[in-house]
Amino acid sequence: MNNVYQEGKDFAKSYILPYTELTDKESKFPEETFKALDKKGFLKLLVPEEYGGFGKGLEEHAQACLAFSETCSTTALCYMMHNVAVMCILTHGSDELKRKIFTDIVENGKFMALAYSEIGSGVHFYKPEISTEVIGDNTTFNGKKSMVTSGTYASYYLVLAPAVAEGTLNNWVFPLETEGLSFEPSNWQGLGMRGNSSCPMKIENVTLDSTYRIGAEGSGGDQVFNVVAPFFITGLAAVYSGTSMHMFEISSNHAMDRKYPDGSSLAHIETIQIHIGDIYKNAAAAKAMTLEAARAGASGEADALAKILAARVVASEAAIECGRLAMRVGGGKAYNKGLPTERLLRDAYAGQVMAPSADILTVWLGKVLTDQMIP
Ligand SMILES: Cc1cc2nc3c(=O)[nH]c(=O)nc-3n(C[C@H](O)[C@H](O)[C@H](O)COP(=O)(O)OP(=O)(O)OC[C@H]3O[C@@H](n4cnc5c(N)ncnc54)[C@H](O)[C@@H]3O)c2cc1C
Repeated sequence: MNNVYQEGKDFAKSYILPYTELTDKESKFPEETFKALDKKGFLKLLVPEEYGGFGKGLEEHAQACLAFSETCSTTALCYMMHNVAVMCILTHGSDELKRKIFTDIVENGKFMALAYSEIGSGVHFYKPEISTEVIGDNTTFNGKKSMVTSGTYASYYLVLAPAVAEGTLNNWVFPLETEGLSFEPSNWQGLGMRGNSSCPMKIENVTLDSTYRIGAEGSGGDQVFNVVAPFFITGLAAVYSGTSMHMFEISSNHAMDRKYPDGSSLAHIETIQIHIGDIYKNAAAAKAMTLEAARAGASGEADALAKILAARVVASEAAIECGRLAMRVGGGKAYNKGLPTERLLRDAYAGQVMAPSADILTVWLGKVLTDQMIP
């Protein structure tokens, strides 16, 4: 894969677009698209070449998520989580874990998800409350994760749990078929992102040996900060920038196509021109910031973290603002689902509440810019 963004756009046209409407209407996980993501190689985008993948990094992750989200936010979000989980295995997983999981992705089209949030800790997902009991090499887990995107569809779930030393964390991988693991798919009633299957995961006496722990004992906190944060936050910035760009495309096309009886179009009206200009400004700024943040992150530049946090906040807010303006351009047709605008506006609202939420990230950004520690 040489031009991931363009290949992602081409893929989306053939394999995402046909399912997008149904994904939302029936809250249907985009299963057909995920089969195609496997066939066309996107599931192994970040898997190292030695395991049969493309060995790409943060920039290509952002490009793929952006390209997909310019057609379907929900599909892009599910895909984004998979890439983040792959990165944790790649950077901290044992050789055994890499061989097992990467082979399953490359040869069997399996994909991954993140089971981090809990009802109690909410957006502060890095403070999990599930219980762990260690006996010899085995750990037994009990508790519940609250919103697991791709729940029941993904084959491997990353689970954050308290580690042995007080205040430390472990990052585990739970295979779907593990005894004691179950899901509540009907619980997903999201305003938007309706195809995500973001459902609770029940963990009842799940027992795993230490080969399922990612990295050394107590290294989960480092993984959250050094791997999950850059890939997840940049990925979210890409998803919501793509949502905004999609709104621009829909609104500008509608303004040109919608004709009045005198032959003039909506696009001839100055107020509409201003709205379209504002939608484009917001969307393009978010997209540019996201791509620049990914570039800075991939190059390990000193200000990369600030750029990543800022891009994510800008992208989340831009998506909602673009949706508000796109509804004005679309008028009654958009309101009455004659255009996909209302779906995108509903999708956009997830951006500000997903952990780490836009409010929390704004505080973190201020801390980073003034040389203070963030959790
Ligand atoms: C579409 C979607 C998909 C998701 N997928 C996943 C997934 O795959 N895996 C996963 O683990 N989780 C997932 N989540 C869960 C998500 O990341 C959050 O953990 C969850 O939304 C928190 O909800 P809550 O009501 O408990 O938030 P609360 O913690 O109750 O927070 C409520 C509000 O208060 C604000 N707030 C809380 N603390 C602070 C603070 N210190 N400073 C400023 N503001 C604060 C928050 O911004 C939030 O808006 C998903 C959520 C959504 C919407």
